[in-house]
Amino acid sequence: MYYTSTRDSSVRVSSAQAIAKGISPDGGLFVPVEIPKISLDDISRISGLDYIGRAKEILKLYLTDFTEEELDRCVCGAYRAGKFSSDKVAPLHKINDRLSILELWRGPTCAFKDMALQILPYLLTVSAGKTLKDTKIVILVATSGDTGKAALEGFKDVENTEILVFYPVDGVSPMQKLQMTTQQGGNVSVCAIKGNFDDAQSGVKSIFTNKQIEEKFKENNLAFSSANSINWGRLVPQIVYYVSAYCDMVEQGSVKLGEKINVVVPTGNFGNILAAYYAKEMGVPIKKLICASNANNVLTDFLKTGTYDRNRKFYCTSSPSMDILISSNLERLIYILSGCDDEKTKSYMLSLTGSGKYTVDHEIHEKICESFEAGFCTDGETKQTIKQIFENENYLLDTHTAVAADVYNTYLKESGDLTPTVIASTANPYKFSASVLSAIEENVKSEDEFSMVEELFEKTKEPVPKQLAELKGKTPRFTAVTDKENMAQVVFDMLGI
Ligand SMILES: *Cc1c(COP(=O)(O)O)cnc(C)c1O
Repeated sequence: MYYTSTRDSSVRVSSAQAIAKGISPDGGLFVPVEIPKISLDDISRISGLDYIGRAKEILKLYLTDFTEEELDRCVCGAYRAGKFSSDKVAPLHKINDRLSILELWRGPTCAFKDMALQILPYLLTVSAGKTLKDTKIVILVATSGDTGKAALEGFKDVENTEILVFYPVDGVSPMQKLQMTTQQGGNVSVCAIKGNFDDAQSGVKSIFTNKQIEEKFKENNLAFSSANSINWGRLVPQIVYYVSAYCDMVEQGSVKLGEKINVVVPTGNFGNILAAYYAKEMGVPIKKLICASNANNVLTDFLKTGTYDRNRKFYCTSSPSMDILISSNLERLIYILSGCDDEKTKSYMLSLTGSGKYTVDHEIHEKICESFEAGFCTDGETKQTIKQIFENENYLLDTHTAVAADVYNTYLKESGDLTPTVIASTANPYKFSASVLSAIEENVKSEDEFSMVEELFEKTKEPVPKQLAELKGKTPRFTAVTDKENMAQVVFDMLGI
């Protein structure tokens, strides 16, 4: 299996090279040259395995340059017993015969990012060993809140790596911020930027592709990589849980083997839903991928009309991890759906950087409509959905998952499509206690974060994850705030170069 760049189809690299580099030097993203297939027999066989076994079966189809022993080490290290608060790792919670919730937040930082960021350090270490001898890897992360903490936790004290996380100073929840600023480890740094997530992501991307910085790094035996979902090593582990969820849907009797499901994904950077698309293309019986957005509904408009236009107001919503106007992974989908047309993909992306918009060809948009549905909701609707599902189903959703649930409800009403459905649940509700509490309680008494956590617990009896409870009273270790123009300097300062 080889990987190529969405902006230059003549590129050929191994999976180790794609993962170690993170992004192609031409600014494109790495994609596998073909999508491996699995049959219903394979799915039936994989169903009999635990999560570690399922992950090995899927990952080996993509990471063909990893030895079996290497893959074993990566997968077992990431998902071994005790790391996730469910022995199923990504359990499926059945609401009714038609609807199940895929709980992707059972990992150490209580967000779905752990599913990939627990394994990425292993994948990256193996990849670097194959491709970059005697080089220290510097992981730069732009985060809308959850990736930062999950990456810090995954990479802390991993030999031969340094990690630096940039987050938007006013763009993350108090719990997300505290999780990052109190991070332990000798190789970690965290810095707030005066800007939003898109500024952070653009800043990181431009550092990655700056030739002068690259030279400076080479002189110091350093190399960049990315822990954002632009890195293939972030995406490929996410394909696993969609295959696994389908196996569990069959096992719990919600569908018969071969019967289709719909998948609803609360979406920001388009990584999670793209992984679901790969699972569908591999052969998992998926009918529709439903892309759910908050008030930053640039993806809803794009998927419905074929025009991507980021020239619009940016909203800070109650689902901050989806407050994104430039969804990087869409580039991969467009590349695939254009029939691997690198020139066309590149021209759309350059137009996005230039004028902030582009319109895909009619054929590409038609293909999008075959696989995708899209919708968005307001913060008010998000709250109502949290309340309704808590009261009717006794199940507590976080704000991001509630966006997905609301968009699904609307889809159900409008389409009458009764296909059994899985909603990807991306965070534990206690990461967003203020919003979740105010959704189910009209007269919130608490004022500070941890009294809200307690009040939410009193009201719901939903267990508070230990990792979050323990943050109470901790003093932040990282308090720096920088201008978005100054990010490269922060990197140099951290590394002392
Ligand atoms: C990152 C994140 C999302 C968005 O996922 P993408 O892969 O960026 O589309 C949704 N919900 C939560 C809680 C997240 O942390």
